[in-house]
This record gives sequence, structure tokens and C-alpha cells, in this order.
Amino acid sequence: MRRLVILGAGYGGLTLAKKLDSGSSQNKWDITLIDQRDYHLIQVRIHEVAANSIPASQAKIPLSDLLKHHKVQLIQAKITKIDPVRKGIHTSVGPLKYDRLVVALGSVADHRGIPGMKEHTYSLKDLEDAVAYRKAVVRAFREATAPEAEPLRKNDPRLTFAILGGGLTGTELAGEMVDFCKDLATKFPAARNAYRIVLAELTHHLLPELGPEVGDYAKEELRAKNVAVLTNTTVMEVEPGHIHLSSGKAINSNVICWTGGVHAPPLINESGFKTTKDGRIPVDAYLRAEDFEEVYALGDSASIHDSRNDKQVPLTGQYAELQAGYLAECFSKERPPEPYAPFSMGISVSLGRQEAVSLSGPLRLTGVPGRVVKDLSYTKHELGVRELIPTVPKLKLS
Ligand SMILES: Cc1cc2nc3c(=O)[nH]c(=O)nc-3n(C[C@H](O)[C@H](O)[C@H](O)COP(=O)(O)OP(=O)(O)OC[C@H]3O[C@@H](n4cnc5c(N)ncnc54)[C@H](O)[C@@H]3O)c2cc1C
Repeated sequence: MRRLVILGAGYGGLTLAKKLDSGSSQNKWDITLIDQRDYHLIQVRIHEVAANSIPASQAKIPLSDLLKHHKVQLIQAKITKIDPVRKGIHTSVGPLKYDRLVVALGSVADHRGIPGMKEHTYSLKDLEDAVAYRKAVVRAFREATAPEAEPLRKNDPRLTFAILGGGLTGTELAGEMVDFCKDLATKFPAARNAYRIVLAELTHHLLPELGPEVGDYAKEELRAKNVAVLTNTTVMEVEPGHIHLSSGKAINSNVICWTGGVHAPPLINESGFKTTKDGRIPVDAYLRAEDFEEVYALGDSASIHDSRNDKQVPLTGQYAELQAGYLAECFSKERPPEPYAPFSMGISVSLGRQEAVSLSGPLRLTGVPGRVVKDLSYTKHELGVRELIPTVPKLKLS
């Protein structure tokens, strides 16, 4: 049997390993899945962990549970280098070889070279980030309302929570923070009229990837909840407690979160692959790396061109899972595969614990119904990875 190595057990990698092991390619590939964590991170919910809407334990599932009925070799290790010329992987527990490789390593925060951004802001890419941010918010409320603290005033910098980047992550975090700050103001009543949430976005609209109509809707909803939404806002530098803008003004904020961009993990570029400027592997219509025939990439680590709209396929968990389904089919078939055709069932953006805007084709659901759709998308993913979605038995026609 040939050895297939999958790097990363996130939305794309885990789905691929499970699908391949359950499909007709079961006896064709010896599958190895490598991840630095011993759990699958429900990354689409980490803003909820950051804002104390759910405990961290609800955003992770042990990989050993998810793979217990599968013949997949799971290795918990940090991947340090890929050697595509010799078909090898270097990890913290030693090297290994592959016949075919799938890179599904996701993405990491890209601080865009803005001075002070990396040093003085929180990111939101993994559970540790989310827990650190949540603790910083609670600490800010506690310290600002301590008996020995200076009296609080309206929009106090000590209780100003700036979120830099108004894409999906920043917008969802801002909505969630409204509810978190309300809870904390009940616990620390002196802070009730002193805290402020600021969401700053570089472009003219929030959620630029979803079009101006949805972005403007989100902006109005967040403003109605007293979030200060600033668009066309360019950050030049961050210092402890201060964000310097290109307008010459500054936002004074004690707890700053950077949600303004991601790039692929640097190890991909350092391993000799041809990469885009954000470190992703450009792939052909079969999700194969352009320069190494036995290397495939998907999800946030891949740069996939959608010829129908001449844009890059969006970086979402949903697309990563669908790409994994496509590759599982390709790897199990003997005949040449059909090219990958990007497809989306829609997207939901939460705007607080009780509210979301959900889009599917021309359909748009907002408020509580939108949130129900958002929650269903979480349930679908979790039931899917746990393989609890009932399959309808095929009827035998005689
Ligand atoms: C707050 C937030 C909200 C989001 N909301 C949505 C949403 O509503 N809908 C949606 O579809 N998408 C959403 N996304 C995006 C979605 O989470 C990502 O697009 C998706 O997780 C990408 O899947 P992936 O398989 O490419 O990578 P990931 O799921 O990130 O998996 C990558 C895996 O690689 C592992 N890894 C990385 N580097 C190494 C290394 N050196 N060694 C070993 N292992 C390594 C990681 O541990 C991880 O398990 C959201 C993201 C965030 C941050």
C-alpha cells in the first residue's frame, strides 16, 4: 500500500482522513495524519470562547475519539519542515516519508508588518489565544473597578476593547463582546457606563468578502448595540494602550485584538514550495501543487482560483471540508478526476449570542432565525466529524 500523509487535522485534513478511510480507497492508502494538537479545534467557535459565551472545552474534540474506528495512524507532533524533493517530512518526533502528501496546515495571524502589532495585540487563531483574550478582558474590568483605581469615566481607555480588522472574525468577536461586556458590567457595576467596544476596518465596509449590503447591515446592527464601528481606518502603529491611525488620531485601548489578516504557516514557504505572497500553495484545478506532482493542498493553506468569478476561493471551514470530500473522491478513483468546482451552501455571521445574518444564495435570514441557522451549521460540523449524521439506507429495487 502507498503511504498518504496528511498534514493538519483541522477542517480539511481530518475530513479527508476520515472520508478516505471509510470510502472505496480503504485498501489503497496507508493513511497517516499529523497534527501538533491532540484535539480537533472547532475554530469557527473560538470567538465565542474569547467572549466567554462557551467554555474552551466546547471548542475541541479529542482526535483519538474521532478516529477510534478508523485505520488512520495519528501522530501528534509539530511539523518543522517538508522536503518535497525527497518526499519527506521533518517533525518534532522524527522524520517520515510519503508517497503522496496533502498539506492542510490552515493559517496563522499575519500582522502585516505593522510596527508593534505582534507585540501589543491579542490574536484569535487558537484556543490559547481565545483564553488569553478572555482573561485580559476580565482582568481589565477587575482592575479598573478596584477600590484603589482612579474613578472611571465614559469610554475609559482602561475599558476600551479595540478589535482591528472587520472581516468575519473581527465582526463576530465584536458582536460577542457586546454580550460579554454586559455580563461583566453586571458583575462590576462601576464599569456600567465606562466601557466601549471599537471595531476598526481598513476598507469602506465590514465583511468586505461578503459584499457591501451584508457589511452595511452588520455595521448598523453593531452600532445599534453601541459598538463604535470605524471603516476606512488604517492602523500605522501600535504601542501599549495606543493605536496610531493614518489620520493622525489615536485609539486608546487597553486590550487590543488583531483580526486583520492571516497567512499560511511560514514553514510551507521555507520548505521550497512555490507560494503566493501570503504563503499559500497555488494549486491547479485538481488541488495539486503546481511544482510537485504528488503534493496536494487544501483549505487555508492553498490558493485556489475560481475561474467562474476570477477570484480566490474563500478561506472558510466549509470550503476546506468540501475540498477534502473532493480529494477523497479523486484519490479513490482509478480514472482521472473531474476538476474541482468550488461550491458553497452559504455563510452565517454571528452578531452576538442571539443574532446572526445567514446567507444562502438569494436567501437572507437575520436576527434570531439567522442565529438558528448559524447554530445548525455548528451542529452539522460536529455531527459530521463525530459521524453521527444518519445516512439514509439505499433502497434495493428488485
Ligand atoms: C473566529 C473565527 C470564526 C470563523 N468562522 C467561520 C464560519 O463561520 N464558517 C466557516 O466556514 N469558516 C469560519 N472560519 C474559518 C475556518 O475556521 C477556517 O477557514 C478553517 O478552519 C480552515 O480549515 P483548514 O483545514 O485549512 O485549517 P485548520 O482548521 O486551521 O487546521 C489546520 C491544522 O493544522 C495544524 N497545524 C498547523 N501547523 C502545524 C504544524 N507546524 N505542525 C503540526 N500541526 C500543525 C493545526 O493544529 C490545525 O489542527 C472562522 C475562523 C475564525 C478564526
